[in-house]
Amino acid sequence: MIPFLDLKAPHVELREEIAEAIARVVDSGWYILGPEVDAFEAEYAQWCGAAHCVSVANGLDALHLALRAMEVGPGDEVIVPSNTYIATWLAVSQCGATPVPVEPVEGTYNLDPSLIEAAITPRTRVILPVHLYGQPADMDAILVIARKRGLRVLEDGAQAHGARYKGTRIGGHGDAVAWSFYPGKNLGALGDGGAVTTNDPTIADRLRVLRNYGSRVKYVNEVQGWNSRLDPVQAAVLRVKLKHLDAWNVRRAAIARQYLDGLAATDLVLPEVPAWAEPVWHLFVVRHAQRDALQAKLTEAGVGSLIHYPIPPHRQAAYAEAGFAPDAFPVASRMADAVLSLPMGPHLHMDDAARVMEAVRAAA
Ligand SMILES: *Cc1c(COP(=O)(O)O)cnc(C)c1O
Repeated sequence: MIPFLDLKAPHVELREEIAEAIARVVDSGWYILGPEVDAFEAEYAQWCGAAHCVSVANGLDALHLALRAMEVGPGDEVIVPSNTYIATWLAVSQCGATPVPVEPVEGTYNLDPSLIEAAITPRTRVILPVHLYGQPADMDAILVIARKRGLRVLEDGAQAHGARYKGTRIGGHGDAVAWSFYPGKNLGALGDGGAVTTNDPTIADRLRVLRNYGSRVKYVNEVQGWNSRLDPVQAAVLRVKLKHLDAWNVRRAAIARQYLDGLAATDLVLPEVPAWAEPVWHLFVVRHAQRDALQAKLTEAGVGSLIHYPIPPHRQAAYAEAGFAPDAFPVASRMADAVLSLPMGPHLHMDDAARVMEAVRAAA
């Protein structure tokens, strides 16, 4: 059996370094915020080329609190992709604001900049592109629109640690980037974790207050905040794993190269990579008209696969109240019916990737 993702492998590889890092936290006597969290924030900000990093408890909180730091609230609208993981939308809803979906480009799965202006209203405050599957969205095109219309840009970087747009790492293109360190992400903790990077000192300052009960000085509460902090244990683990992330992303890229070459002659729709994009291949997503049959055959052949995502947010019961017609976003719906994620990860062996391709070629 070739699993879709071997979550244990990176931790087995780094077992001793991780154990030492955790022991350091145990011995420090410091278990909330403090030096380990400060060190991770500084290292991660530097790694992704942003002036500030504020860590939080998870990726959803990173999105939600970043929107709050941009003063998004009831009555406001935020432009989101129609084909993202639901967390992107939930963060907007948690502010009391309204997610306004825009369809993606079919080849790259990312927000189509040519459709954004038509979705802007006087209530729009933020454009929220997602760097989906590890491929950067077209940031310059999005930023031109945002600057022209006086909007903020918050990026959902949950799947794109290390991805480069026009040679520069995701981290400081827009006003802020929200990150998730959920275990399955390219940079994952041993549990939940998240962060926001930004070049804007005001956003960073507000986030530090919002994540900590609205407090800068203990027992002095400036605003009604949240308890959303990255644990020092997770920060220590992330510091270890960050040192290996570039090498791991290189391995993912090598597998993606194999897949792109080896599956070119099949009737699968393969991901398109624009010249300016250096994806980090969080997921390798193909499309096929008989997706469910293809997946069943792969399972029979011992090849794991997953669907990201089977139901677009506008068709979820969670958004029934918004009253979207089921066919309101046909590109997102078509994608949901046809996408399939093949095994991908830094610890997938090349000969296993070759076996995956053989199984896909036989099945497709
Ligand atoms: C994982 C993910 C999130 C949410 O992150 P959590 O840490 O699980 O809260 C948000 N957006 C996208 C695109 C994701 O993939």
